[in-house]
Amino acid sequence: MDNRQIVLNERPEGKVTSSTTRLVSEPAPEVGDGEALIRVAMLSIDPTIRTWMDDAPGYLPPIQLGEVIRGGGAGVVVESKSSRYREGDIVFGMTGWQEFALATNDNRFAVLPKGLGLDLGTVMNVLGVTGVTAYFGLLDVGAMTPGDVVVVSGAAGATGSVAGQIAKARGASKVVGIAGGPEKCADVVERYGFDECLDYREAHLRRRLRAACPSGVDLYFDNVGGEILDDVLTTLAMRARVVLCGAISQYNAVGSRHGLENTSTLITRRARMEGFIILDYSSRFDEARAELAAMVLSGALRHQEHIVKGLERAPEALNHLFSGENRGKTLVEVDESVLLG
Ligand code: NDP
Repeated sequence: MDNRQIVLNERPEGKVTSSTTRLVSEPAPEVGDGEALIRVAMLSIDPTIRTWMDDAPGYLPPIQLGEVIRGGGAGVVVESKSSRYREGDIVFGMTGWQEFALATNDNRFAVLPKGLGLDLGTVMNVLGVTGVTAYFGLLDVGAMTPGDVVVVSGAAGATGSVAGQIAKARGASKVVGIAGGPEKCADVVERYGFDECLDYREAHLRRRLRAACPSGVDLYFDNVGGEILDDVLTTLAMRARVVLCGAISQYNAVGSRHGLENTSTLITRRARMEGFIILDYSSRFDEARAELAAMVLSGALRHQEHIVKGLERAPEALNHLFSGENRGKTLVEVDESVLLG
C-alpha cells in the first residue's frame, strides 16, 4: 500500500509557494506491537503550521526539511495491534499531511465517541483545536464575565466565530467582531449573531471601535496581532483583559514584525495581556467539548467548514487562511471513502 505524503522541501519566505513542499510516495508503515494504522480522512489546516515551517524557536520544534508536514487530522483505524484502538474506530490526532499515519505510544490519538450525532467536519471544527481554543481562551484566559464588552478579531474564522458565540451565550453585553470585507462582516452578524462587525480593511478602525464600544473594551480576543491589536489597545476599559490567541497577520512576515505602540494603555487601564497555547488545556478538553457539542445540537452555535478536496491541495488550503479565502474552519478532505465505507 502506498502512502502519499507532503514533505517540507524548502523553508518559505512569506507565503507558502509551489516549491515549499513536495509530494512523495512511500510504502504505508508496518504496524508494530502497541501500534495502529490510520487511514487519514481529513486534515485540520491551522495557521500555526506555517510557523512550524520556519527555522525559529516556538512551542514545538520546527519541521525539518524532508519531514512530513506536521498537522492535526482524523481518520479510521484500519489495522490495530494496540488495546487502545479497534479497527473501524474514528480517531483524531497528529496525522501529518499524509494518507496513512501510525498511532504509537509517542503519537496518541483520541477515539471519537460513537453516536455524537455530528459529522466529522463539525467535530473537527467545533470540537477540534479551534473550538476548544475559543472556549478556554475566552473563559479561562480572558475570564469573561456577564456584562463584558467583548471584541473578537478573525471573527469570521473558525476560532473567532466560536469565541464570539460563546461570549453571547454567556451574557456579554456586546460582542463586536473584526473581519476582512463586507461579506464576511455580514456573515459575522447574520450567521454568528455578533452585535456588530467592523471591516478592518476600511479606514479609521480605531475611531469605529471607539464608536462601537463607547465604554471601552473589557475583553479582546486577539487572533491576528499587528496593527489591529495596536488599535484595540487604545480602546481598553479599566481592568480589561487582552487574550493573545494568535497573530496571523505576522506569520508570513519577512524580516521584522509589527512592533506594538500602544501598550502603555495596559498601565493606565490596569489591564492584563496574556498569551496561551491550547495544548496546555488538553486534560480539560472534554469539559469544553461537552458544552460545545450541546450548543451545536441545540442550534445555539452555528459553524461553517471550508473543505478543500485532495491531499495535494493542503498547501493551497494553508494559504487560504492568509488570503482570507476560507469561510469557517479550513479542512482538507484526503479520502472521502474512509468515512463512508
Ligand atoms: P481562521 O479560520 O480564523 O482563518 C484565518 C483568518 O485570519 C482568515 O480567514 C482571515 O480572515 C484572517 N487573516 C489572515 N491574514 C490576516 C491579516 N493580515 N490581518 C487580519 N486578519 C487576517 O483560522 P483559525 O481559527 O484556525 O486561527 C485563528 C487564530 O487563532 C490564528 O492566529 C491561530 O494561530 C490562532 N490559534 C491559536 C491557538 C493557540 O493555542 N493559541 C490554537 C488555534 C488557533 P479575514 O478574511 O477576516 O481577514
